[in-house]
Parts: sequence; structure tokens; C-alpha cells
Amino acid sequence: MRRFSLMRLMGAGLLLGLAWANPAKAEPLAKDLFGAQKLPAAAAPASYGFYSKGCFAGGIAIAPDGDHWQAMRLSRNRRWGHPDLIRLLERFSRDAAADGWSGLLIGDISQPRGGPMLTGHASHQIGLDADIWFTPMPNRRMSVEEREKISAVSMIKKDSLYVDDSRWTAAHANLLRRAASYPQVERILVHPGIKKKLCDTVQGDRSWLHKVRPFWGHDYHFHIRIGCPKGSVDCKRQDPTPKSEGCDKSLAWWFTEEPWRPATGPAKPKARDIMTMAALPAACQAVLAAPSPQSEAAVTLVDAGPLPSHAGAAPLAQDAGDPGSQLLSLQPTKIPRPTPRPAADLR
Ligand SMILES: [Zn+2]
Repeated sequence: MRRFSLMRLMGAGLLLGLAWANPAKAEPLAKDLFGAQKLPAAAAPASYGFYSKGCFAGGIAIAPDGDHWQAMRLSRNRRWGHPDLIRLLERFSRDAAADGWSGLLIGDISQPRGGPMLTGHASHQIGLDADIWFTPMPNRRMSVEEREKISAVSMIKKDSLYVDDSRWTAAHANLLRRAASYPQVERILVHPGIKKKLCDTVQGDRSWLHKVRPFWGHDYHFHIRIGCPKGSVDCKRQDPTPKSEGCDKSLAWWFTEEPWRPATGPAKPKARDIMTMAALPAACQAVLAAPSPQSEAAVTLVDAGPLPSHAGAAPLAQDAGDPGSQLLSLQPTKIPRPTPRPAADLR
């Protein structure tokens, strides 16, 4: 017995020794720290860093239900965003309803303080990205359980790269046109087959097509990205989209084999799975350390309600280092591409 405990002690010592010898192993992952947050940082609204490498303060939530929206997968606690985005979603839901769309099913926005997520999404980190389902809202309130389980419907024909014409309607195109109509919206990500459908069918004003960008995934939902909000001086803006419609060679590439070729060699870990706080703007330390608001309800936007705010919250402490110098070292990266899907999973 005694010898057994001694061996255990030695084992523990060995483990400790290993941890000392390899301090990188002990560094917590940013996704664990941000994924554990239940409420936003009570501070003035500000986005820090880039869509795929950052965090935000002063976030508010969109209510699970509005007249013209229902939020899905409530258990994920990803109904949070910069107030500019949350307000825009509420407006979009009203405008879309006036256009004849029965209401928005809202997918993931951001975690309460942003940052990398435990699962899914490379981006959605600074409160400026939101996923909207292509499935229109049913004319009844879904239960919490239904919102976990119901699947969205793909707009792409099985085993092809083209839109399923039995599902795609003019109303879907109008919904994307409406989303693109807001000056704050800089990008809308859709499956290449959907972009092609728009290129082939949109009549009249086509100037909005430049905002609609082909990307992997995004056949069940589309992704709205707004630009850096006014006042978010440490938000790193993305390169503007080309002004052309994007119905040219750049789209044709998606209908070649190359973007869908299975990756060769050993699988590389995803950035969000290895990112530590050192990879994020220094301000994200202060975002993590900031107090929470009194309650979720106090910072949730409800239908026809005023925009909630973190009124009275102290400004975010910047003593965790100089975020400016960190940001200078941020490369103007493009959104990292996920590993291309195997050819068998073209959807
Ligand atoms: Zn998304």
C-alpha cells in the first residue's frame, strides 16, 4: 500500500516535471476560455481583432422570439453580437416580412464575448457575423426542443454543385437581395451553386451581387457579415470585395475539381483548436476579465423594444497590454479555408 502511494507520488512528480518542461502544454486554449462565458463583457461595445481571430465587448443578445424571427439551437448560447449587428437582424426580419418572407430562422451569431468556439465556425468571433437559415420560419412558435432538432434543408441538389430547383424560389433570391441592401453588410457567404443561380437569374439591378460570395458549406444557411462598427478602432477590416458581380472566372473555379479535392498528407489542426490568448488582440484579456451585466434579460433585444445597452458600465480596462501594437502584427489574413470536403460529400 505504502509503496503504491509512493509510486503514485512519483508519477505525479513526473507529470509535474513534464508540465514544467513543456509550458506550452499548460497554456489554456482561447476556445475553452471564451466557450465558458455565459454573459457578455459589460463595457462599451467594441469589436477587437479580425472575424476569425478576435473577441468583442458590450455584446447584446437577440431574444429567442420576435414577431418575425425565431432563434435556433438555443442551447449553444450563440445569440450574441455587437449591438449594430443585433439591431440590423431585427430590422432585416421586419423588412423581409414586408417582402413576403414568413420570418427568419436565426442560427449562430457569436458567443457572449466572442472568441473562438469549441465547435464549428472559424469566424463569428467579433460579433459581426450571423447565420440565417434558408428555411423560412413556420407560422407557429417552435418548442425549445424542436429548435435543437429540426434540420435546415439544403438548397443544393444531392451529389451536385447546383441549386435544387424544387426548393429554390424567387423569395430566396429576394431575401438575399434584401440582406445585401444594407450598407453595413459587406459580405454574404453562400454555396457556389447559389451564387451561380443568382448570376443566372437576377434581373434588373445586379450591383448587389458583388457582396454575395461563394464559399464552402452555406447551402442550408447563408452568412451575413457586417463591417467594423464605428468606434471599434481595434477591429481589423476585411479587404473589400471586388466591385464586379463575381459571375466570372472566379465563380467558374468553384465548378472545377480543385476546390473539392480531398486534402493530402497529415490533417492540419484547425486554427481555433490550437489558438491561445497570445494569438488574440491583448484587449481580449480585458474582455475576459470584464464584469457581466446583471442579467441576460437586461441586455437582450426584444421585439419593438429599445436597443439594450450596458449603461453605466466602466470602460474596458486596457491594462492587459497595448492592443494597438498587437494588432499591428495581425496579418491581413483572408478567412482561412476549411479543408476541402471529399468528393463523395459534394452535396
Ligand atoms: Zn456562418
